[in-house]
Amino acid sequence: MPRAPSPALTACLDALRTQLGAAAVHDDADSILVYESDGSRLHDAVPEAVVFPRSAAQVAQVVRACVRHGVPYVGRGAGTGLSGGAMAHDGGVVVALNRMNKVLRFDAAERRIRVEPGVRNLDVTRHVAPHGLYYAPDPSSQAACTIGGNVAHNSGGPHTLKDGVTVNHLLGVQVVTPQGEIVEVGGDERPGYDLLALLAGSEGTLGLVTAAELKLLRTRESVRTLLVAYPSVEHACEAVSAIIGSGLLPCALELLDVEVVDALTAAFGLEFPDGAGALLLIETDGPLAGMKTEAKRIEAVCKEHGALSVRLAADDAERAQLWKARKQAFGALGRIARHYSTQDGVIPRTRLPEMLRHVREIAARHELRVANVFHAGDGNLHPCLLYDDESADTTARVVAAGQEILARCLELGGTLSGEHGVGIEKREAMAQLFDATALEVFTNLRAAFDPTGLCNPGKVLPLGRGCGEVLAAGKQVSS
Ligand SMILES: Cc1cc2nc3c(=O)[nH]c(=O)nc-3n(C[C@H](O)[C@H](O)[C@H](O)COP(=O)(O)OP(=O)(O)OC[C@H]3O[C@@H](n4cnc5c(N)ncnc54)[C@H](O)[C@@H]3O)c2cc1C
Repeated sequence: MPRAPSPALTACLDALRTQLGAAAVHDDADSILVYESDGSRLHDAVPEAVVFPRSAAQVAQVVRACVRHGVPYVGRGAGTGLSGGAMAHDGGVVVALNRMNKVLRFDAAERRIRVEPGVRNLDVTRHVAPHGLYYAPDPSSQAACTIGGNVAHNSGGPHTLKDGVTVNHLLGVQVVTPQGEIVEVGGDERPGYDLLALLAGSEGTLGLVTAAELKLLRTRESVRTLLVAYPSVEHACEAVSAIIGSGLLPCALELLDVEVVDALTAAFGLEFPDGAGALLLIETDGPLAGMKTEAKRIEAVCKEHGALSVRLAADDAERAQLWKARKQAFGALGRIARHYSTQDGVIPRTRLPEMLRHVREIAARHELRVANVFHAGDGNLHPCLLYDDESADTTARVVAAGQEILARCLELGGTLSGEHGVGIEKREAMAQLFDATALEVFTNLRAAFDPTGLCNPGKVLPLGRGCGEVLAAGKQVSS
């Protein structure tokens, strides 16, 4: 049953209809249902309203109206996030930023572009490619996800291994603060605290990004892409450590296990080597002169570690097909199960074989199937727990298995998230990663930005620590 709107919400929406126009404010049951979840199905929450601002000034009006009436709000891009970050779990308003999707400025000579937050990641590269440029962070969701969401999650992608994540390509952002002020952050070398780095990865809890200035790279002079088959994931993981250990630095080193390969074959009819238990997709880039040698060296290390076959993409078309397969791997899993939940733990690369054994054991114990496709070079796992029904029992098993996988990542010296963020999914696990003092610092920092606590509440910090108090080893510490 939809809840009746509170007088405060009604007053807030009335004000926004006056300021933004009635068409920008939706609170009917059908419209708000669309915003009940993100890319993960496990953390649903229907908002009370959705608003569609078209400019930074309108975003500021939305934030001010919410603050004036005490209504929580949460920014949203394309909703491809996987940690439940873009939903209104405390009720309130979703601020949909995907209609702010213009390129504001592009300077090819300076290799920089300024875009609104709703511009899709892939569209940045499409816009600049005719000038011999590209935007490096390339999440597998790049055809859909927005730059605003990328900044909020500090997103990476298969090429993170060499190119880094969003913050490494961010020159500045414009944000609407939780006070409703429009502020420019970053820009060319400025002294003082690095607020840009703080905002990148803050998951929409410190303000709403209304523009981003991005650094562009020159289109790579030369690229070699290899598909290497191994009898097992363990062999493939050992090869990953050996490649990096030998001093080689491919720009991408991705692992696909046999379940994913089967799903890709079923979905797209792609042909992969027979008998492979795992595939590595390896890409190396650089000046043309050294490329052949580099690819040969990688091939040699792969063979030393038990490769069944090594296929070098013959041309751009074959290379594009291999990447299409990698980037659509999650979608292809829909062929073998109705639902999946993707985890995002990180562990030291050398522990990958051991960790994947744990993943299989945990999934089996919870009677779930698991498929793995992940950024192996970064030690960034994405075990996909597959399930067919959404009964309470199944959901509980999926959640429990996910939490166990993350706990095991921490035990092996890793961390909770490589790129999908904490959101609501991992907020309680933050207390396993950080001690009370660190959490108190986070809490105070957040309160300094957002004293009213209305900006994406209930995300990132464990409950009880996100609203001005920290529970430390049995005693309560005020902040
Ligand atoms: C199939 C698939 C593959 C994926 N592969 C990758 C991958 O390779 N690498 C990777 O990093 N991620 C990946 N993701 C996760 C996801 O796509 C990224 O986290 C992405 O950056 C989210 O962008 P979005 O526009 O969809 O944001 P949303 O899901 O709408 O929001 C995500 C978070 O950002 C906040 N937010 C959104 N816009 C703004 C804004 N303008 N200002 C402030 N806060 C904002 C939201 O409040 C929320 O907390 C994948 C997801 C899927 C479904």
